[in-house]
Amino acid sequence: MFGCRSYVESNSYITHLQCSRCGETHPHSGVQTVCVNCGGTLFARYELEGVKSALRRDELSRRAPTFWRYREVLPVVHDENIVSLGEGYTPLYPLMRLGERLGLKLLVKDDGVMPTGSFKARGQTTAVSKAKELGVRRVALASAGNAGGAMAAYAAKAGLEAYVFMPRDAPSVAKLECHVMGAHVYLVDGLINHAAAIVQRLRERYGWFDLSTLKEPYRVEGKKTMGYEVAEQLGWRLPDGWGHWARGHVEGVRGA
Ligand SMILES: [Zn+2]
Repeated sequence: MFGCRSYVESNSYITHLQCSRCGETHPHSGVQTVCVNCGGTLFARYELEGVKSALRRDELSRRAPTFWRYREVLPVVHDENIVSLGEGYTPLYPLMRLGERLGLKLLVKDDGVMPTGSFKARGQTTAVSKAKELGVRRVALASAGNAGGAMAAYAAKAGLEAYVFMPRDAPSVAKLECHVMGAHVYLVDGLINHAAAIVQRLRERYGWFDLSTLKEPYRVEGKKTMGYEVAEQLGWRLPDGWGHWARGHVEGVRGA
C-alpha cells in the first residue's frame, strides 16, 4: 500500500514515489523509471513525522562523515545495498576577499573533493545503490562529462555492467575516466540528446537500466543531500541566498 512505510526494520523512511507532474503514486519496491501515466519525473516521498520522532540532531553529529548519515531520508531500504566510496560531507569554505568586496558573507561548498571529483557522485551513489537493491544488473546513461565517470565508478564498486554513451567531442578526461572504471564506452557523432536517444532506443533490447538525468527517481535524492549538509554545517540554519545550482537543494531541505 502506498503512503505506508513497508519495511519496519529499515533505516529508510521512504513510503512511495510520486509523479511531480500529475501526482500519481508508484511503489518504490520495484524498478521504476518515469510516471506510467504522463512520463513525468518521480520523486521519493518519506514518512517525515516518523523521521522527526526517531532522529535527534546530536545523534546525527556522531555518525560517519558521509552523506549516508541522512539515510532516514534516502531511498535505500537495506544498508548492505549502499554502494559508497566515502562521498559527501564536503567542506564549506569562506570566500573572504570576494565577500568583503561585495559586502557579503560568502561561502563555497567544495564538491571537487568527492570521490569522482564532482557533485555527480551524489546522484550516482544513490541511484546505483537503489538499482543494486532492486536487482538491476546493467546500467546505462548518456553523458557529456563527469556523470559518466561517476556512474562507471559506482557500477564498478557494485559489480554492475556499465554502458556510457558520450558525444565524440566530450572532454578526453571524461572518456578516460569511464574506460578506467571498466565501463563500455560508445562515442556518438552528435550532442548529448543524440546519445540519450540511443540509450532510450536500445535499453529494452539489451536490458539496460537508464540512469540518464531525470529518467529514474533516485539521482535527485542524492543531490538533495548537499542542502542537508549545508544546513548541518551552519548549525541548522539555511543561508539567506544560494547560487542558482543549489536552489533545488534548498527546496529539498525545506521539504524535509
Ligand atoms: Zn504523472
